[in-house]
Amino acid sequence: MTQQLFSQTSLSRDLLDNLESLGYQHMTDIQAQTLPLILAGKDVIGQGKTGSGKTAAFSLGLLHNLNVKRFRVQSLVVCPTRELADQVAVEIRKLARAIHNIKVLTLCGGAPMGPQIGSLEHGAHIVVGTPGRIEEHLRKGRLDLNEVNTFVLDEADRMLEMGFEEAIECIIEHCPAQRQNLLFSATFPPKIEQLAKHVMTAPEKVTVEASH
Ligand code: ADP
Ligand code: MG
Repeated sequence: MTQQLFSQTSLSRDLLDNLESLGYQHMTDIQAQTLPLILAGKDVIGQGKTGSGKTAAFSLGLLHNLNVKRFRVQSLVVCPTRELADQVAVEIRKLARAIHNIKVLTLCGGAPMGPQIGSLEHGAHIVVGTPGRIEEHLRKGRLDLNEVNTFVLDEADRMLEMGFEEAIECIIEHCPAQRQNLLFSATFPPKIEQLAKHVMTAPEKVTVEASH
């Protein structure tokens, strides 16, 4: 299969120029198969092994949907662990370098509450975090998800293994019904099928075996 280029997608000029400066030119298989669907606004399930480039696939999707002039939380990325959430936030900030004044906030368990509460008062465009801590901020009324247009579950298999269904359920109830849902996972056990049915609307499923 001939490799596909980011420049063949409908990403904005700014995002494309930044990708070029990062040395991202060719899409990985999972990106080539999911990004066009994501940019078309579809709900997408992407299954691909670690290192296949899933982060950039959903991150470019949420950046495509984002209006930086509107300083409200528009994207929510839920990850199983603090380490993964931090990695995703680093990747989003890299991919968003061309968008001035964009604010990405991480909300993870194990991190002190005080600074998170302060950051929430300042606001953010994108929140990346772990289920329990996001749920806690929601229950305390500190996090408003009413303007979320893109909801991402990253490493969904691990989140189910860790017993995060109920927290995810609570988070979804705080998001608008009309939203784009993206679910990424390395494996696809039957429980994910159930979660996807519950969270997503007519999702397109993409499975990639090899990383390139
Ligand atoms: P996954 O989430 O599927 O495990 P990652 O999204 O963490 O994988 O990507 C693995 C690595 O590949 C990261 O270091 C990322 O910066 C890099 N990468 C992703 N997409 C591309 C691309 N199209 N071109 C070059 N490097 C890429
Ligand atoms: Mg990943």
